Amino acid sequence: NGVAIGASVIPLVNKLQDIFSPFKSLSSKIKLPQVVVIGSQSSGKSSVLEAMVGRDFLPRGCDICTRMPLVLQLENRQCESDRDGREWGEFLHLPGKRFYDFSAIRLEIQAETDREAGVNKDISDKQIRLRIFSPNVLNITLVDLPGITKVPVGDQPSDIEKRIRTMIVSYINHKACIILAVTPANADLATSDALQMARNADPSGSRTIGVITKLDIMDRGTDARNFLLGKVVPLRLGYVGVINRSQEDINRNKCVTEALAYEQNFFCNHPVYQRLHDRCGIPQLAKKLNLVLEQHIRALLPELKADIKSQMDVVAAELNIYGEVMKSKADQGAVLLNILTKYCDALSSLVDGKSQEMSTL
Ligand code: GDP
Ligand code: MG
Repeated sequence: NGVAIGASVIPLVNKLQDIFSPFKSLSSKIKLPQVVVIGSQSSGKSSVLEAMVGRDFLPRGCDICTRMPLVLQLENRQCESDRDGREWGEFLHLPGKRFYDFSAIRLEIQAETDREAGVNKDISDKQIRLRIFSPNVLNITLVDLPGITKVPVGDQPSDIEKRIRTMIVSYINHKACIILAVTPANADLATSDALQMARNADPSGSRTIGVITKLDIMDRGTDARNFLLGKVVPLRLGYVGVINRSQEDINRNKCVTEALAYEQNFFCNHPVYQRLHDRCGIPQLAKKLNLVLEQHIRALLPELKADIKSQMDVVAAELNIYGEVMKSKADQGAVLLNILTKYCDALSSLVDGKSQEMSTL
């Protein structure tokens, strides 16, 4: 895969995230890079995520479907353990259970959301963590968040907008986070909620990628050229324009592959977008994301190393207090120390290897 430069870095980070997630103090101190998708409700966030994975598996609808953060870890697997090259998903809350049926993944996301956030359209801060193993994805961790909504519906509390904004901010404020700010082309781009929130969290625009959806349903005679070129709202990392399936396509069961072919055809034959081919299409977005993510991880590695080192010192000091007797808490400490040491070494060698590799590019 020509796109996945140094793809080995990201599975390692995914593993770190899984190991740290039960340890509150560690997961809050060690800020690992991930890609967070933000935007107003129905802007096309779930559609973009599905297109990147190449499968239908996310709860969708015109209503608020995403009510908990969904941490989606895509891992490229060249069918080593699965000869048919089958793709599967696995939830952190159901370890060892492989979901080969992607509609069952959607049902499990819905069921877990109902269990954790209730059935009454309320939201919860707790994460659903899902890994997708597939030969057809880039190694990327994506987080889907509830969409920014203005008016409470059903039994939603009146402060729902504020709570969703607070949740979004808590993710995108981390400097180890890359923001995918999704704005539909048929809305007023200059007043985009996603771009405004992204600008507040990332004023220099060093970790925000703009995504313009719904390029197919702009008014006739208008196009998003100036926006894609960053002439309306400048963004250092730039914009990518995409076309997802319309509601009608979804109702007619148009599959993701078909949708990608349609998108490619649309851009190739469009008088304006054919000249902006490096800024148009889901494959371009995937490529851009992977590159940005790798550069980001590389820049963060020294700090991450220092964080792990100081956590190790804390654990080692705590271990000392327990002396020789290894009761259960000390056992845990020892196990954790072991894991940390291993990963610290792995990271060190990666940093060294990486800086050599990158200097030859
Ligand atoms: P989310 O709420 O941000 O996750 O948005 P969804 O991905 O659920 O999309 C909301 C609606 O917009 C769905 O009916 C999609 O079919 C539709 N939609 C999303 N992207 C596009 C697009 O690029 N073009 C068209 N025509 N419709 C889209
Ligand atoms: Mg959604």
